[in-house]
Amino acid sequence: MTERVPSYRLAGKRIWVAGSSGMVGRAISRQLENENCELISVGRERLDLRRQSDVEDWMAETRPQAIFLAAAKVGGIMANQTFPADFLYDNLMIESNIIHAAHRIGVEKLMFLGSSCIYPRNAAQPITEDALLTGALEPSNEWYAIAKIAGIKLCQAYRRQFGSDFVSAMPTNLYGEHDNFDLQTSHVIPALIAKTHAAKTKGAAALDVWGTGTPRRDFLYVDDAAAAIVYLMQHYSDEQHLNVGAGRDISIGELSALICEVVGFQGGLNFLTDKPDGTPLKKLDTSRLSALGWQARIGLREGITRTYDWYCEQLANPNR
Ligand code: GDP
Repeated sequence: MTERVPSYRLAGKRIWVAGSSGMVGRAISRQLENENCELISVGRERLDLRRQSDVEDWMAETRPQAIFLAAAKVGGIMANQTFPADFLYDNLMIESNIIHAAHRIGVEKLMFLGSSCIYPRNAAQPITEDALLTGALEPSNEWYAIAKIAGIKLCQAYRRQFGSDFVSAMPTNLYGEHDNFDLQTSHVIPALIAKTHAAKTKGAAALDVWGTGTPRRDFLYVDDAAAAIVYLMQHYSDEQHLNVGAGRDISIGELSALICEVVGFQGGLNFLTDKPDGTPLKKLDTSRLSALGWQARIGLREGITRTYDWYCEQLANPNR
């Protein structure tokens, strides 16, 4: 990777990672440990990000200079379908409150994080940033997607009207340590890791995989995503949102086989076709990110191995 001089320096800055207890927020905080900045944080028991005046008061008091907006209500395909109101309302409130308060106190730079589900279900693949709002969304996660699209538009609108340096990054499907392993609400990688480990432990004959196994996704290890996000914070300033992905896709069937190998489970795969497949293919075009000098470093096998090791450690020491 070519070394570039940052256009925004993080060193010496007071930085708030909103959502610092989540998988992405934790990874960004770890990444920022190398940047010589002052990290501020607030737990959800102290500040409910859906409450506007509380957010405004807390931000006016603590005065962060830069913000990574990684706080969000997130979940897998089933959670999105079960809790549409939470996914729409919570995410709209969290992002509106933080972005508006950031404008009010004159935050120098804000990075808003969305998701690849903002794109139309039938977008041409790999999906370029220009596909936004060119077609109908995938119905299984449109509530979350609509909220995230509003977040991109908020950043653009504040930039246009007030000159705020607010940027947006859209990561692909992420996974890694501190992911949610609850089978009802998780994304596919943590779900399959937990299910495969349980199948191995029980000596089960087969692993249950939702859907047909044919959908394809582009997965990125969370530490890679965090590195990209911090890099963009330092090097990017424009109203165009940017994709963050690994730029390679894999089918859910192939992914399941890979997870079985990493976990050491030798049984078969049992596809539950009554469960939803979601969008058939989601793969991001990351040319714009690559042109800025950034590339993913951690391959899927390595990332899954790290995640599985972390999961086993958690099972052994749940309070750590
Ligand atoms: P999506 O990218 O928004 O569809 O989110 P998910 O990560 O929840 O699902 C990705 C794909 O993996 C879908 O086709 C799911 O049906 C499939 N999948 C297979 N097994 C599982 C599972 O146990 N949990 C989840 N969440 N998805 C699964």
